[in-house]
Amino acid sequence: MPHPVKIRAQIVRGFGRGSKLLGFPTANLDPQAFTQILADNSVKHGVYAGWIHIHPQKEVYKTVLSVGLNPTFHDSVHPTVECYILHRFDSDFYGSTVSLIIGGYIRESVKYGSMDELMEAIKSDEIWGNDMLHTEPQLRKLRDDPFLHEDVDSSMNGNVNESNG
Ligand code: ADP
Ligand code: MG
Repeated sequence: MPHPVKIRAQIVRGFGRGSKLLGFPTANLDPQAFTQILADNSVKHGVYAGWIHIHPQKEVYKTVLSVGLNPTFHDSVHPTVECYILHRFDSDFYGSTVSLIIGGYIRESVKYGSMDELMEAIKSDEIWGNDMLHTEPQLRKLRDDPFLHEDVDSSMNGNVNESNG
């Protein structure tokens, strides 16, 4: 991956496992938005640190994200992009458009033997990711990348539960 990969996508429903089972909610990106981008940029499966903007909020948040097949659960045929955002939200944001920049590589995808092992791994990913985004100047400055701050077309923000917007 020669340069940071940028994806704009809507948040879709996954298996509801992130928050319910593990205590780490992961915002799942709509595969339609990233499949070609991952292929074009030869994005290796694994865990990354990056920055995410949930439109139309104002802030840009740190995120630790996985690109891959969820090997611990072995239920994905197609890769998913799932972002654990390092912020506490008062409510869900399914259907929102996000702008994501995938920055630093943390580790490869691993098939864990237990939920405890997976949770320990995510905790350390959070620590590493948080640290990288602060201390590596190349990653830190991505926070200000115009891609994250562009106005998105409001038609991309349609409520997924309404037919006539
Ligand atoms: P799903 O399988 O549908 O992705 P999760 O249990 O992984 O369900 O929860 C993800 C959802 O939780 C996100 O789509 C988002 O709406 C919400 N959410 C709340 N807080 C966060 C957070 N800190 N990081 C990611 N998603 C969050
Ligand atoms: Mg999820």
